Amino acid sequence: MAYFESLPYGIADFTTQVEPDDDRLWVPQAENVWFRPLHLNRTSGQWVNLLKVRKSGVLSRHRHPAPVHGYVIRGSWRYLEHDWVATPGSYVFEPPGDVHTLVCDEGVEEMITLFHISGALIYLDENLETVGYDDVHKKIEMCMEHFEKVGLGASYVEQFIR
Ligand code: FE
Repeated sequence: MAYFESLPYGIADFTTQVEPDDDRLWVPQAENVWFRPLHLNRTSGQWVNLLKVRKSGVLSRHRHPAPVHGYVIRGSWRYLEHDWVATPGSYVFEPPGDVHTLVCDEGVEEMITLFHISGALIYLDENLETVGYDDVHKKIEMCMEHFEKVGLGASYVEQFIR
């Protein structure tokens, strides 16, 4: 048997509609902030989601213990600590340890960005003290609660879990 035929993975994942028709797939994360799960990996601690923001101002200051990749689909945003602005089509790489504060500027009605996150977001206050965190397990919990509440059922999340 050829090497590739012996791999145990089965068919590759494929999502036709990354931006869903059904708004119930957007899980609330904060006021006017939602995420849409695509891949929640309990084994590697990584997850892939869309982040949607419909407000301007500071969203969060945080750092990651592991790399993050982002691809902007709509709207624009930036980090206070850096001098670039991410716009549709931008690729963003966040190296481990980088502290950044996500800001959406006035006039941006909506931003949607696909993020691939490894490990965690560690939320920080102005003094860079840890005030909270997000990891894939919290994301799964949030999805279960939300999907139950909107009538999809808590188990709806299982299709995204790897
Ligand atoms: Fe980040």
